[in-house]
Parts: sequence; structure tokens; C-alpha cells
Amino acid sequence: MLRRKSGTILIYITRLLDEIVRNALPAPRFNLHLIAMQKLRALFRILFTFDPAARLDLFTAFPIIRSFFKNRRNMAFLRTFGDFAFSALILLGIFGPQDPGKNISLFLAWGIWWSGVVLSWFFVGKLWCGVCPFLGIGRLLQRYGLSLNLDPPHALRRYFIHIAVLLFAAIIWAETVTDLKNSPLGTALLLLSILTGATVMAMLFKGQAWCRYVCPLGKVIGAGATMSMIELRATPDLCRSCDTTACKKGRPGLRGCPVYLGAHNIKNSLDCLLCGRCVLLCERESPRLLLRNPFVELLAIKGRDLTCTFIIPFLAGSQWARFIVEDAKYQSLIPPLFGPPALSFSLLLIFCFAVFLGIITLGNRLLGMRRSSLPIHCSPMIPVLTPLAFSGELIYRLKYLLGEAGNFPTVLTRQFGLTIEHYSFVIPASAISLLEILILALGCLGSFYVIALFRQKQSESGQTGFCRSLQILVSLVAIVYFLLIG
Ligand code: SF4
Ligand code: SF4
Ligand code: SF4
Repeated sequence: MLRRKSGTILIYITRLLDEIVRNALPAPRFNLHLIAMQKLRALFRILFTFDPAARLDLFTAFPIIRSFFKNRRNMAFLRTFGDFAFSALILLGIFGPQDPGKNISLFLAWGIWWSGVVLSWFFVGKLWCGVCPFLGIGRLLQRYGLSLNLDPPHALRRYFIHIAVLLFAAIIWAETVTDLKNSPLGTALLLLSILTGATVMAMLFKGQAWCRYVCPLGKVIGAGATMSMIELRATPDLCRSCDTTACKKGRPGLRGCPVYLGAHNIKNSLDCLLCGRCVLLCERESPRLLLRNPFVELLAIKGRDLTCTFIIPFLAGSQWARFIVEDAKYQSLIPPLFGPPALSFSLLLIFCFAVFLGIITLGNRLLGMRRSSLPIHCSPMIPVLTPLAFSGELIYRLKYLLGEAGNFPTVLTRQFGLTIEHYSFVIPASAISLLEILILALGCLGSFYVIALFRQKQSESGQTGFCRSLQILVSLVAIVYFLLIG
């Protein structure tokens, strides 16, 4: 029986889906069919109903995935391919034609690569980091003993998120103010500077300190991965009696976890690179790749993690700033108000970040958090805003990808000295707008779903504090997003 007392439409819908999954799928007739139906049922239950404990072990359901991670050559092959592709991209940017209409590195970097990475947050979390090419040179230097192998200093461990946010702000600032998306050389230098940062850190510190502490891309991907459909986790029963912790320390001839974590220490999706090294190292087959409801971790973290606390409001604020400066409606208005474009964007970026900090503080008050609590730390507003921030970033990246996709065949032919214009095409602006609205609507739905789940959890434990005002506040944020993409 469906219980109607839950009080929210969204939760009612998920329960209805649960009923449908349980009753509507046809009865299995033979073994293989039975297994397929069980997997399908598990998949539906995990994705469309909210059971915090429900997981589908992908290593057990599809053993080929575990075999893939267990074979060192597979990941090494992907990494090598990535290293070559990125080297080619950087070389094209530096030595190729500087006319944006004749250099494919721009579309490959900003359209295919970064849009693909943002889209991957939701489906595969931090999997990009498992094959990331920025680490190639550092890893090679470490293998040949060309690293001081120091422990990361206390200051780095303490202020890592501040450094990461500053670096991310610098990337967004440079991307917007210097129009990096139209500069092959600028794009190549940006990639080169991230590569340099990762390499220098690898020469100084053991493992991948760059990834664990300061990589701005890694922190943004990690914050996005808290809303991912998959997670890598150890099996606590198997780890309890383990005295080797090989997943963290490694084994003779095999280095341990590059971010000093180890499968048994993974509590969330923020730091684990999904490199699969622990799958290879663990002799008890404890690490599992699990399919989960994407909102499970958001609810569990409740904004308590420092990374999300800073990254999510900055990401969302920077989106507002970027939408504003890149919209023709505002372009003529802003520079005269605030001076040169670089200064006006800097002020706008700070202002929009401050607006989101204000929204979080206000949300805290509406949630009944006492004044003495830190303004944003530990705020349940972070998970509430995460789906909106994710959809905002996806929209921003897809706008470029879809807008430039039609020119790609022409740019590609020009790159090789040909001029074949008739292969170009245009994706209608109305289709792009429709897609943007759809993605934003899904983001809003996600945010309201998180509110509904919090509300249900609170009412089950007899607490009060959630109120309609919070939904109104999030609706206002969503309206601003809609106006800005419109
Ligand atoms: S944290 Fe940064 S450098 Fe490290 S793997 Fe991820 S994107 Fe690459
Ligand atoms: S994951 Fe494996 S190696 Fe790591 S603590 Fe658990 S059992 Fe030990
Ligand atoms: S916990 Fe495992 S998958 Fe995650 S970064 Fe460490 S070794 Fe790689």
C-alpha cells in the first residue's frame, strides 16, 4: 500500500515508482531472464526510490568491471592515451595557428574535454581523475626517484581548500577576462600551468599531494561527485581484521593509494580518484564499485565537508557572474558602471560569491540554525544548492559545446590547410535553449528533492525547523538562474 502521509509530491512519486518496479515488471521465465530482471529491479529501486542503504555492487553484477581495474595495463593504457592526447592539445595550442577558426584545440579543450568532465560528475563521479593526464610527468619522475618524497606540510593540509578555491577563481577569471576560449595559446598555457603545478608538487611531496590538496579541477569534480551515481567503498567486515592495509601503503613493487587514503578510509567521494589501485592491491577483494541513489551522499554529508562548503557557493556564484558578462543584454551596461572589464568581472565575481554566502546564511536561519553556528560551515544549504550548481555548470559548458559543434568540421579542415566550408552546420538556438531549460529544471527538481528528503528525515525524528520559506528561497535562486540563461 502506498502511504500518503509523506507530505511531498516528490517523495510520493518515488514511492509510486517503487510500487511500479515491484509489481509491473514481468515475471521471469528462465535463469538468465531472472538474473537480468533482478539487476533491473535493483537498478530501478536504487535510482528512483530513496533507500539510503540500497546499493548495487557493480563488481559482482558485472565482473568484467573488476577485471578491468585489476589489470594494471588497462588503466595504464587509458592514461598513456590521455597523456598523448593532452600533449598534442598543448602543442597545437602553442605552435598551431592562433586564429580560433583554424585551431581545433579550442573546441577539443573547452567543448569536448571540459563539458565531458562536467557531465561525467553525475554518472561516474571522479573517474576522470583516474585517467587524468596532468599527473603523467610527475608520476614518471617519482618512479625514477626524482622526488624529494616529503610529507605534505601542515600549512598545506590546513589551508588546502582556500588555495584550491583561489586557484579555481584564477582559472574562471582568466577564462572570462582574457577570453581563453578564443585563444589557442592561452588555453595551452592554462593546461601547461596545471601540469606544472602537479609536476612540481610530485617532485616535492610523496604520492599525489597536488590531487589530494590543491588541484582546483579535482576539488570541483570532487564536489560534483558527491551527487554521483557511483561510489567506491571498502567492505568494512573484510577490512576490520586486515593488518596490511595494502590499499593505502602498497605492496612490494606496487605503490599504495596516491592520495594517502586507501579504500578502507573512504567516507565520501571528494578525495578518492577512482584510480582503482586499491582494487589491485587488496587481496581480500574488499573495495567495491557501487551504484547508488545520487542524493544519498548529499544527505549524509549535510554540508559538513569543508571542500563543498567553499566550492559550491563559489561555483554557483561564478556561474551567475559568467552568465551576466557573457550575455549581450548586460555587456554594454556593466563596464561603464565598474570600470575596465577585468575590474568589473572581478567585482562581479566577488559580489556573486558573497550573494551565495548570504543565501546560505539566510537558509541556515530559516532552518533554525542558531546564530552562533558558523555562517556557512555545516550548512544543509550546501547539499540543497549542489544540484542547481551542477546543472548551472553543465548549461554553461554545453552552451559553448553546442554553439561551436557545427563549426568543428570546418575548423578541422582548415587546421590542415583545406577550406571545405559546406560541412558546417548550426544547432538551432531554440533547441539549445530548450535543452538548457530542461537541464535547469532537472537541477531545480534535484534541489527540491533534497529539501523534501531533509524535511521528511526531520519530521521522522520529531524535529522542526524546515519551513516553506526555504522552498521560496530556493525558488528565487532558481528564478534568477532561469532569467540568466534566458
Ligand atoms: S585532482 Fe586534478 S590533477 Fe589530480 S587527477 Fe584530478 S584533475 Fe587530475
Ligand atoms: S581494502 Fe583491503 S587492503 Fe585495504 S584495509 Fe580493507 S582489506 Fe585491507
Ligand atoms: S582509495 Fe583506491 S581508488 Fe581511491 S584514490 Fe586511493 S587507490 Fe585510488
